[in-house]
Amino acid sequence: MQDAGPLLEMLRSICGDSAVLTGADMAGYASDWRDMFHGKPLCVLRPANTAEVAKSVVACVGAGVGIVPQGGNTGLAGGATPDDSGRQVVISLDRMTAIRRIDSIGMTVELEAGVILQTAKEAAAAENRLLPISLAAEGSARIGGLIATNAGGVDVLRYGMTRGLVLGLEVVLPDGQVLHRLRHLRKDNAGYDLKQLFIGSEGSLGIITAAVLRLVPLPRHRTTALISVPDIAAAVRLYARAQDDIGEALSAFELISGDGLALVATHMGQEAPVKGADWYLLIEAGSSLPGLRTAMETLMEAAFEEGWATDGVLAESEAQADGLWSLRESLTEAEGKAGGAIKHDLSVPIPEIADFLQETGKMLRSMVPEARLNIFGHLGDGNLHYNVMNVAKADSARVNTAVHDMVARYNGSISAEHGLGQYRTAEWARLATPPEHDLTHRIKRALDPMGVMNPGKVVPLHD
Ligand SMILES: Cc1cc2nc3c(=O)[nH]c(=O)nc-3n(C[C@H](O)[C@H](O)[C@H](O)COP(=O)(O)OP(=O)(O)OC[C@H]3O[C@@H](n4cnc5c(N)ncnc54)[C@H](O)[C@@H]3O)c2cc1C
Repeated sequence: MQDAGPLLEMLRSICGDSAVLTGADMAGYASDWRDMFHGKPLCVLRPANTAEVAKSVVACVGAGVGIVPQGGNTGLAGGATPDDSGRQVVISLDRMTAIRRIDSIGMTVELEAGVILQTAKEAAAAENRLLPISLAAEGSARIGGLIATNAGGVDVLRYGMTRGLVLGLEVVLPDGQVLHRLRHLRKDNAGYDLKQLFIGSEGSLGIITAAVLRLVPLPRHRTTALISVPDIAAAVRLYARAQDDIGEALSAFELISGDGLALVATHMGQEAPVKGADWYLLIEAGSSLPGLRTAMETLMEAAFEEGWATDGVLAESEAQADGLWSLRESLTEAEGKAGGAIKHDLSVPIPEIADFLQETGKMLRSMVPEARLNIFGHLGDGNLHYNVMNVAKADSARVNTAVHDMVARYNGSISAEHGLGQYRTAEWARLATPPEHDLTHRIKRALDPMGVMNPGKVVPLHD
């Protein structure tokens, strides 16, 4: 930008001098959590309230610069990282951290977009309520980011994705208007459900400044098991049986590969209590009512009898259950320490997961024999993190394309829960149908005709 001075002056007058970061102060906001995407923001803005966000948006639009909303910066698709043009302003919500109200009877919480998920969960738990979003980044991810990415995580099996929890939103639109729909209502069919436009839109249509979320009763009992299985077909059969035997109390059904656990042992120093298999399942049930342990024991006995399980442990204490979860939650970090991977966040229909994995594995072995796989994810949601390690940079694009083509053949999704950001937008554009392109561009143009909101994310710049 030729002269950023007047815009910086205006932003300082709106938000205060200390809320406008430039130079080295922007470092933590210019790259993503994995250090994979790097940008050069014009400045980073940290407004204190919705009015400041709205005025800042008007100022940025007037100056013709792009706006990149940012929460905890833990997104895995580069959606919160600006480009390197020096013509984009990062608007961080990290100062908007008020939990305004918890209604433990109506089971709702109203909070600002910058509240960290873990803080919100602790506040809900103090009222004997659960905010059912659980992911390894919950100590950093913020409510606005979780909504903007429609985050998944390990609670989806039982409680659904973040979208299902959002009852109301406050959003600053690209023209500076504030859409104020902070209703604590479970039922509201009065016209189009406008908030849905912003959930999962990754900051490309507006800036979420506050939300009302649904809470659920805090489960008083939980039981957690780590089980080794002979193959994926057995894991899927065990999943069907768990649905029958544990029913709605089944809260997580996670798949972990033996290779993944080996990475965790090598790079994080954490040893699993069950060893020697190609595949493992981390299964959890939770409820306000007792009796879960017996149900889990019955499930495990059936699994051994049927030959669906080869070994397993049932956590004897909360600490042991936490230890089992720690193995699962360390997979991404261990992978990073081992050199990273080409990441795929895919979903396919659950009954076809075994065929998908077999076919894709065979294809990759013939394409890149030296590749190693780190596969884990939410088997109960049909969602796998299919990460391909040890691939030369020159081969990464064709590996990515080949995996996504296979996902498309299985009528799956190339982004089950992480969004498109800048990482997958081109692939989305390659695989989307003409009506999907058309409608996506029409929605973007209708809400953001100047194209200022998170340019190039979700909606391709040139299509
Ligand atoms: C170790 C680890 C584990 C993870 N596990 C999971 C998992 O299991 N499931 C899952 O779904 N994700 C997972 N993630 C990804 C990430 O945590 C989620 O995508 C999370 O929702 C991002 O929240 P954030 O506040 O960090 O958003 P950011 O990274 O800051 O932003 C993400 C996107 O949302 C936009 N955005 C942020 N705030 C706003 C706002 N207020 N208004 C409008 N747009 C906004 C940004 O522009 C960007 O496009 C994981 C990440 C890590 C690092």
